[in-house]
Amino acid sequence: MFDIAVIGAGPAGYSAALNARKREKSVVVIGQNTGWLTKAELIENYPGMPAISGQEMLCIMRRQAQDMGAQLRPGVVHQIIAMDESFAMSLGADFIEAKKVILCTGAKQPRLLPGEEKLLGRGVSYCGTCDGMLYRGKHVAVIAQGPEAVHEANFLASLCASVTYFGSKDEALDPRVTVRSEKVESILGDMHVSGLTAGGEDLPFDGVFIFRETMALSSLIPGLEMDGAFIRVDRQMKTSIPGVYAAGDCTGLPLQVAKAVGEGCIAALAAAKELK
Ligand SMILES: Cc1cc2nc3c(=O)[nH]c(=O)nc-3n(C[C@H](O)[C@H](O)[C@H](O)COP(=O)(O)OP(=O)(O)OC[C@H]3O[C@@H](n4cnc5c(N)ncnc54)[C@H](O)[C@@H]3O)c2cc1C
Repeated sequence: MFDIAVIGAGPAGYSAALNARKREKSVVVIGQNTGWLTKAELIENYPGMPAISGQEMLCIMRRQAQDMGAQLRPGVVHQIIAMDESFAMSLGADFIEAKKVILCTGAKQPRLLPGEEKLLGRGVSYCGTCDGMLYRGKHVAVIAQGPEAVHEANFLASLCASVTYFGSKDEALDPRVTVRSEKVESILGDMHVSGLTAGGEDLPFDGVFIFRETMALSSLIPGLEMDGAFIRVDRQMKTSIPGVYAAGDCTGLPLQVAKAVGEGCIAALAAAKELK
């Protein structure tokens, strides 16, 4: 079990990790190299790193966190479950446990498809490795909006009667996977998934797997109080859920590296203090 799990591998997450390590706490940072900073061609307003690309800055931050002893785990956390004295986080088929959680998930929030929330767990899944066996010999769709999609579609191809992949063609896809480029508009079904609508056409499926870079906060950690599109926090970066902190773009404006790094530091120090 880790002292602190940081969800999100951006400036807020790495700052939280560094500062937690300075307090000698065990830390895992879960996330992929897909945050907003990766899109910034040139950063000129962060002190000490003049005229640097976002990718380069992130690479330095990642190395620094790693060198200080933070463990890095690539992947997307699908759900955070509060237990008595800790939290369990689902990462593919694995679970990671930590005493405190710091959400550093950035400002990007996925737009859920009509039908998705209602049919989650009833034919809609975010994890092929976890739920694939339920669809052995069945017909499934994969909605590819994140880097895990290819790997997961190939896994499903080894189990399912058919896998239809809604996304762009990728050389690494198993030849058994059928690729379609239409945009998925909604997921169909009443008590269970019956199909989806794409390009104006209703298509029958037994299950729909969705892979994104991020999760909607409402399904990642139900019950989290929001302030509009952002997570509500106090000055210690505590959220409405005891033991859960938030930092960076996910807590509000300004969406800037300096603010993300500052909040990551505050969240880590507050979490470390509570761990004592
Ligand atoms: C084009 C562009 C230019 C910019 N230029 C500047 C600039 O010049 N100066 C400046 O200060 N700021 C700039 N910014 C803003 C800056 O990039 C952000 O403010 C900063 O990256 C916020 O850091 P963060 O850690 O809060 O979020 P992010 O950097 O967005 O990182 C969020 C991380 O969380 C991960 N994540 C989300 N959900 C999950 C989940 N469920 N499980 C696991 N991981 C998850 C994401 O994959 C990502 O790694 C720019 C942004 C853009 C897009």
